Amino acid sequence: MTIPQLITLATSFPATAPMPALFVGHGSPMNAVETNEFTENFRALAAGIPTPAAILCISAHWTTSGTHATSMAHPPTIHDFYGFPDALYAVCYPAPGSPALATAAAQALAPTPVGMDQDWGLDHGTWSVLCHMYPEAAVPVVQLSLDIARGPEYHYALGQQLRTLRSHGVLIVGSGNIVHNLGLLDFEHMGSHYGYSWAIEAADIVRTHLLSGDFAPLVDYPSLGPSMALAVPTPEHYLPLLYILGLHDGAEPLALSSDVLVGGSISMTCVRVG
Ligand code: ZN
Repeated sequence: MTIPQLITLATSFPATAPMPALFVGHGSPMNAVETNEFTENFRALAAGIPTPAAILCISAHWTTSGTHATSMAHPPTIHDFYGFPDALYAVCYPAPGSPALATAAAQALAPTPVGMDQDWGLDHGTWSVLCHMYPEAAVPVVQLSLDIARGPEYHYALGQQLRTLRSHGVLIVGSGNIVHNLGLLDFEHMGSHYGYSWAIEAADIVRTHLLSGDFAPLVDYPSLGPSMALAVPTPEHYLPLLYILGLHDGAEPLALSSDVLVGGSISMTCVRVG
């Protein structure tokens, strides 16, 4: 740990017992304005852990060239979707930012350069979940982008480097969906537990490796066969999981929730580490 890192973390974020880390399956943006089994699970996950000093969220919906962290004091709510009801565009999640956490995250990730972003904000991968977990929007939130040009090993390694933040009250959230193939979505089955056979197989493969504690096959997910190729046709909804697996200390518990498929090709699985 470098001296600047010690200074930023210690002055802004007092030491705590290690915070759990969460991967959340965010699913449809409509979850933000609905009450259902998935939003109830978001609330239960938050209720089961200490209130964080700040939240660092890696959202599937912020892909960039290079790695960036939102560093503004008041991140805007971004409505990054089209064709949804007006009620969804009216949602505002006015959580403060945390320039100090953006700096601490950048220091933890050195020597990888992290851009201090002033242009993004909170996208629906973040707020559609946090509006249920922390509805008062009182906990500061920083987003960390996905450098989409980099392979899965890069993202897993960044997760490992962020582990120190857990011991300073920071809740790290990865928001995506492990199985996520919008092109094959069956809209008639969005409201029920339903998965195509390949989606069931991919979810089974991931579950087995998650519970085994050996994450190497999940990092090398392109080698996991044709069902995974259908489950992860593009990487952005899967990669946030690798940050959370990188945060695992090798011995602590790992728990799954909402481990079901909807619409044939989306899994809503959430993963708690610690
Ligand atoms: Zn999404």
